[in-house]
Amino acid sequence: MAIKASVGYMSVNHSRQMTKDAAMSLEIEIVPILSDNYVYLARESASGKVLCVDPGEAAPVLARAEELGWDIDTILITHHHGDHVAGVKTLKAATGATVIGPGGDSQDMPALDQSVGDGDAVAFGDETLRVIGVYGHTAGHITYYAEGEQALFSGDALFSVGCGRFFEGTAADMWPGLLKLRDLPDAARVYCGHEYTATNVAFATSIDSQNADLQRYAGIVAMLRAEGMPTLPANLGLEKKINPFLRADDPDFAEMHGFKGQEGVAFLAHIRAGKDAF
Ligand code: ZN
Ligand code: FE
Repeated sequence: MAIKASVGYMSVNHSRQMTKDAAMSLEIEIVPILSDNYVYLARESASGKVLCVDPGEAAPVLARAEELGWDIDTILITHHHGDHVAGVKTLKAATGATVIGPGGDSQDMPALDQSVGDGDAVAFGDETLRVIGVYGHTAGHITYYAEGEQALFSGDALFSVGCGRFFEGTAADMWPGLLKLRDLPDAARVYCGHEYTATNVAFATSIDSQNADLQRYAGIVAMLRAEGMPTLPANLGLEKKINPFLRADDPDFAEMHGFKGQEGVAFLAHIRAGKDAF
């Protein structure tokens, strides 16, 4: 099963801004794999080139691409975890795609044709993919921001109303990366590596119960999940208001949790520890 990201359920998702269609340069498809991972296929309209983000499995991705009549040119990897890379070798063998990823992330990384890092830009047809390092989930985790489409492929760095666990780093490593993502435009849509939104909303509500935007979003998420629909892409502007991990430097929020004067890294570590135990 795969779900088209641009139609259907978007009519109930108030966070989606529907103003870009005329200028749209990437057509993005969501391919659910494993228990709760998402792979993304994206076709650049000027060149017809197709990219694939984090193929943790090959077969469902190849099947969907075939249905669409899309030939995968490029594979983008955010980090070395198996649920994001296990399909890379098979997919490359089947398509001849160029594999791009963070070379320094781990020796477990599949063979890369091109190693990229924070600050790099990758041209893809008329699109430019900006590489933004967000470290902490893994030591070398990167995200890809498509500037024309205003789409962020965030891997396991940023989730809707959440962020990745700090497996290979600390809050001090993660915070500068989250700030870089927060600097992206409010209109940006976030394509995350997992469908974790409902659990994240439950945790966020437990520490931010008076947040009206969060309460409204909780209703939308419940409705989408009841229909078996993805909650993604998320809207970054809304995430800036409701994602506790993007609000760790909010003085009022920090004070509410006894972190007055310690907003930023210390409060982020506290929020992450709370979520890990939730
Ligand atoms: Zn991961
Ligand atoms: Fe993952």
